[in-house]
Amino acid sequence: MTTKPESAGQPAASTQRLLRAIPKVDEFLGWLVPPPAAPASLVKSSVRQLLESLRQEILTGAPLKPADLTQGSLLPRLHKLLAARLRPNFRTVINTTGVVVHTNLGRSLLPEAAMESLLAVGSRYSNLELDLATGKRGSRYSLVEDILCELTGAEAALVVNNNAAAVMLVLDTLAKGREVIVSRGQLVEIGGSFRIPEVMSRTGAKLVEVGATNRTHLRDYENAITPETALLLKVHTSNYRIIGFASEVPLAELVELGARHGLPVMEDLGSGCLVDLSRFGLAKEPTVGEVVRAGVDVVTFSGDKLLGGPQAGLIVGKKEIIEQIKGNPMNRALRIDKFTLAGLEAVLRLYFDEEQALAAIPTLAMLAMPLAAIDRRAKRLRRLVGKDLGPVCRVELKSIASMVGGGSLPEQPLPSRGVALAPLDRSVNELEKGLRELSLPVLGRIEDDWLLLDMRTVADKEIPLLANCLKEVFEAKNK
Ligand SMILES: *Cc1c(COP(=O)(O)O)cnc(C)c1O
Repeated sequence: MTTKPESAGQPAASTQRLLRAIPKVDEFLGWLVPPPAAPASLVKSSVRQLLESLRQEILTGAPLKPADLTQGSLLPRLHKLLAARLRPNFRTVINTTGVVVHTNLGRSLLPEAAMESLLAVGSRYSNLELDLATGKRGSRYSLVEDILCELTGAEAALVVNNNAAAVMLVLDTLAKGREVIVSRGQLVEIGGSFRIPEVMSRTGAKLVEVGATNRTHLRDYENAITPETALLLKVHTSNYRIIGFASEVPLAELVELGARHGLPVMEDLGSGCLVDLSRFGLAKEPTVGEVVRAGVDVVTFSGDKLLGGPQAGLIVGKKEIIEQIKGNPMNRALRIDKFTLAGLEAVLRLYFDEEQALAAIPTLAMLAMPLAAIDRRAKRLRRLVGKDLGPVCRVELKSIASMVGGGSLPEQPLPSRGVALAPLDRSVNELEKGLRELSLPVLGRIEDDWLLLDMRTVADKEIPLLANCLKEVFEAKNK
């Protein structure tokens, strides 16, 4: 017990000596000549924070020496702390994961046209809720409604904050306190804690599960219909697949069943493709237009998954139903903001010309990118770093697989090219961490002791920045 740094109550004498050696706040502030380029209040609170953490280190027995409490040791620690506090928390990163719609890295990137409108409405007044033809109050939804109808063939549309909000709003409007029939195989969780059954219970809709996990038949839906039934719901299982002995009821049959019983049919489509991407080797996903044409009454989908726009929830469908949804007071709490609307309108307009959409919308362009173009990016990066990294790291080009991400098209690897790094001066995990902690963080993935930098998700203009990040991380260790 004699080695214990403190007995009950009284710290050991050596601990007390160290505690007394911690400088006072004013003494520390006196060392700061010239003062750091930071607001004085932030400097002072950083000094306090540093001194408090020293106290905690000493009390918890960290191996500190009196020399660690001198001006020479503490000033660099303060500057490091200040730099960390002055740096924005929300920053741009380089995505070398090859996951195109990366939920943790901001999902979709906006095209230039969308950025321009976003900047314009952010810094100038706009007609957000003013009808310029009549001079009277207008509706923010009308700014994109006609465009959405034109692109999907729907009779009416509205947009809210995100697709989770869209699903809640529709259920709350059409099925509060009543029954919604949904297949067991479609009771999905969509990342975080968004589970279809939980969302339903929040809206007061009662979930009626039918069928088995792997198979659901039309008669399962039909047998579950009661006078309390309000809605037939199909959830597009975009983030997983049941493989093998599995079947779901075709949408057309569900629509026919709904019509026969006078019940609306909803599909939560999730990804919301407006163009068919199967010609780029991706699995066929139903487009919003196809679902609308199948006769579904109301369709919900995300703005920032395969659509490639800003975060938003889009609701399209029959006029009568959309009007009901617009009238729901909950709508106000879920409403879309003006930046999103500006970005969304610009992105949607690009879809009037499909080829233009594929070229200008980053999400689509990255998914459709030919392997040869990705290979050129990989070679360019290797050329930029080869000489500098040569002595400390193996650098090779490898054929790898990218992913769509965002819960879209699982099981769908896209052939890609990557620059693979195997450091000689540290472990691959240390390299991954070092790159992640740069002021411009680089996110990659480790496979078989290589750090893979998938070049599908690195824009051409980012390649020189990425090269600098790689040089910086190796220099930091070897200088
Ligand atoms: C992604 C997804 C959602 C949630 O959409 P957000 O825009 O992330 O709110 C809901 N339903 C399905 C089927 C999805 O794939």
